[in-house]
Amino acid sequence: MMLKHKLKGLLGPLVAKVFHVTGLRSLFRSTREGVPILMFHNVGHPEETGYLPGHMKISEAKLRRLLGMLQKSGYRTWTMKQLMEELAEGRVPDDAVVLTFDDGYRDNHDVLLPILQSMGATATIYVQTGPMKGRLNWLHHYFWALHEIGPHELAERLAQEVEQAHLKSDLRSLPVQTDAAEYEMKRLMKYEVTPADRDAVLRNVFEALGGVDADLARDVYLGPEECRNLDKAGVEIGAHTVNHLILSSLDATQQRLEIEGSLRDLESWLGHGVASFAYPYGRTWDYDEETLSILKELGFQSATTAMPGLNDASTPRLELKRSAVNEDSDLAQVMCEVDGVYRWLDRRGLNLRAS
Ligand SMILES: [Zn+2]
Repeated sequence: MMLKHKLKGLLGPLVAKVFHVTGLRSLFRSTREGVPILMFHNVGHPEETGYLPGHMKISEAKLRRLLGMLQKSGYRTWTMKQLMEELAEGRVPDDAVVLTFDDGYRDNHDVLLPILQSMGATATIYVQTGPMKGRLNWLHHYFWALHEIGPHELAERLAQEVEQAHLKSDLRSLPVQTDAAEYEMKRLMKYEVTPADRDAVLRNVFEALGGVDADLARDVYLGPEECRNLDKAGVEIGAHTVNHLILSSLDATQQRLEIEGSLRDLESWLGHGVASFAYPYGRTWDYDEETLSILKELGFQSATTAMPGLNDASTPRLELKRSAVNEDSDLAQVMCEVDGVYRWLDRRGLNLRAS
């Protein structure tokens, strides 16, 4: 298993480079039979989002480079809504690529919008609406505190707080290596503490360190005004729940509050309907049948996951695939996904995707 993983790690970039440099990748485009949807979060490196992890970021220069490569290869960017209308007509456009940005960060307005406008491109931004009312989710408290004091001191402080929080593992026994410690602590917080306990202990630590929800939310997230500006500029605004919780961990009533809440918030800010949705976290186990039936009932045209791959006429509209792109992504590999090289190889039993 390890060997297979290592081999894939070596082969993936190598194959992508060969297909990219020789131009071979463009031969796959006419037969790709699917549309790529790319997933991003932060754009640029504004000071305000300095505490968010690197895998959520792409620099202005790298995004421009990718958009340039897409243009040169003859691609046009579409919004999710435009793509859904096209697919509903039974057409799978071979020049389409969709850029999506999750969570609704302010840099999507300040940094991304000028890039899109200067390059004649568009995008869909999935906004979680809770932060606009001054409420941040536990992940922001976690990332912010981690940035302030590092994993080991944070674990120490959390351990003091979670004495009565039914934690299965010992926070103080984190690996010494920083990356591994961060990974392990996030896993513990996500899966081994009840959501209520986790939220409470992280909020306590965040506030003890001087964090203020309303201030951080205002600095980091889009507000209604920015959403309207983006909307007027032809960028689609989609919904991403109110509080960014794992939907499958909630009962039907809570799920509805999260999904419908963000839909109604956005409708009131934009003055029109909202057609597109993205699942928080986006893995297949992060939503369930209940989620799908609520989305259907509320009239969403599409919902995107974070499972990689292309989307064709047979891909369920409420379980569309997306490929994550960030500053560390190999653009030759991204282009192989966009052109359908990975899909072609995958169908022949060779999965070389980066994620
Ligand atoms: Zn998200």
